[in-house]
Amino acid sequence: MLREELKVILEIQEFDIQMIRLMRLKRDREGELERIRSLREDLSNQVVNKENDVIELKKQIRLSEGDVQDLKGRVQKLENQQSGVKKVEEFNALTQEISTLEREKAAKEQRLSDFYDKQAAEEDLLKNLKSAFDSTKSNSEQLEKEIHSSILAINEEGAQFKKQRDEVRKKANADIFKIYEKLLKNKKDRVVVPIENRCCSGCHILVTAQHENLVRKGDKLVFCEHCSRIHFWQEHVVEEAQESTTRRRRRPSAKV
Ligand SMILES: [Zn+2]
Repeated sequence: MLREELKVILEIQEFDIQMIRLMRLKRDREGELERIRSLREDLSNQVVNKENDVIELKKQIRLSEGDVQDLKGRVQKLENQQSGVKKVEEFNALTQEISTLEREKAAKEQRLSDFYDKQAAEEDLLKNLKSAFDSTKSNSEQLEKEIHSSILAINEEGAQFKKQRDEVRKKANADIFKIYEKLLKNKKDRVVVPIENRCCSGCHILVTAQHENLVRKGDKLVFCEHCSRIHFWQEHVVEEAQESTTRRRRRPSAKV
């Protein structure tokens, strides 16, 4: 009888809805894990980049220090040379050369001093980044653990629903079940729905009196003309369904 067959499908549907809910929950939680991972990776990349900046800066400082030393040596050499010179023109020419070198040296020293300032600032930044990374790492590990265990719980609950569903599935009419599964796949929502106040409770579109009568008769499957859901008449299944739920609940205790 159709109403009996629909009742089985309705039972399966409730398990499926629960499983869909759990799948969405799981996807959310996996998304959280992904966000945590990418945040940590981002910080880790920032630390590595900053470390490279500092290494690069130290190289420039060493080169710059070498340049300053070199200029100092050249000035010293010219000054020594100058002390032995007798001619005024030569002396003046050397003075000119020395002052050019001194200017060059002063510019290099200024640059070097800027490098030192920059190095101090970059090392500070690096220290802050490292401590942000460390605290994020330990916080996120805790959070990840919690999320992982909640995903495990979701999987377990889902497996329970699946087991119960597969049990009920054995009782289902193969043809109706096939239609039901196809609809469910499309809608990811309840697809066997009652008519309430002359409306499809799936899409809330008003149905005709003729349509309602067909559903009430319950001789064949009736589909919503608007959303293609299968319609059933509430009173056909509710009381009996409640009764059968009570029976099912009683069964285990009856065994004891
Ligand atoms: Zn509808």
